[in-house]
Amino acid sequence: MRRPSPALSKLKASFRIAEREPLIIAGPCAVESESMFDEIVAMLVEHGIRLVRAGVFKPRTSPFTFQGLGLDGVDMVRAVGERHGVFLVSEVMEAEQIPLLSSVAAILQIGTRNMDNYALLKRLGTQPNPVLLKRGFMADSHEFFLAAEYLRREGNDAVILCERGIRTFESATRNTLDLNVVPIARIATDLPIIVDPSHGTGRSDIVIPMARAAIAAGADGLMVEVHPNPAKALSDGLQSLDFNRFAALLSDVREIFAVMQDRGEKT
Ligand code: PEP
Ligand code: MN
Repeated sequence: MRRPSPALSKLKASFRIAEREPLIIAGPCAVESESMFDEIVAMLVEHGIRLVRAGVFKPRTSPFTFQGLGLDGVDMVRAVGERHGVFLVSEVMEAEQIPLLSSVAAILQIGTRNMDNYALLKRLGTQPNPVLLKRGFMADSHEFFLAAEYLRREGNDAVILCERGIRTFESATRNTLDLNVVPIARIATDLPIIVDPSHGTGRSDIVIPMARAAIAAGADGLMVEVHPNPAKALSDGLQSLDFNRFAALLSDVREIFAVMQDRGEKT
């Protein structure tokens, strides 16, 4: 049985998300241009999404691929975000980026590759913006939950866990989405947990079923990659949903989330 999460209610209130709505963060893998970002944000707003992925510093596996717009993208995402009245979520890769990114992004993201960068976690713990903490792809659930404590110990209680898949021998998917961790988090911690079925699968054709499953497992929300034309995406096109598929995902998960809410706090 889960302890009630005042932290989650507070977060939802600050982002004007209704209690009966899942906490959904959606947007491109990486912001590619102002027009592309504007098109995505306009679509998301039409669907009532308030939290938008706005990655400008991208941790890419290959140094030869698009690394994000970097500093050039910061003012642009700020302008688009303000124009549409949404809250941005952006990844911090090093401590020097914190002052600038925290002035643009309502939520700062720690990516899978930095979950155990304890110096960075401690720095983020001393600033006020909520932190989305993605699970390290080699971290067990205990290590994942302890990483969140590095933030909380420094004074930042606004931490959202994000399951994004772990590395296993399975080769049909990019990662193995560990949905076990959702009910485990609900039992073992008082932190909200959301699930990223985009990085967790690496395949847009199975993102929707895994998103449904995540909510049915008790997740508080989702992080999902969307792109107007996934085949042309500069990063993670294979796992990005087009706008139609995103709309389908949303209507399914909203329905399932309402059922889960009616069940109350039963795990
Ligand atoms: C991301 O969400 O932009 C990302 C890079 O994900 P992860 O850190 O889970 O790979
Ligand atoms: Mn991505």
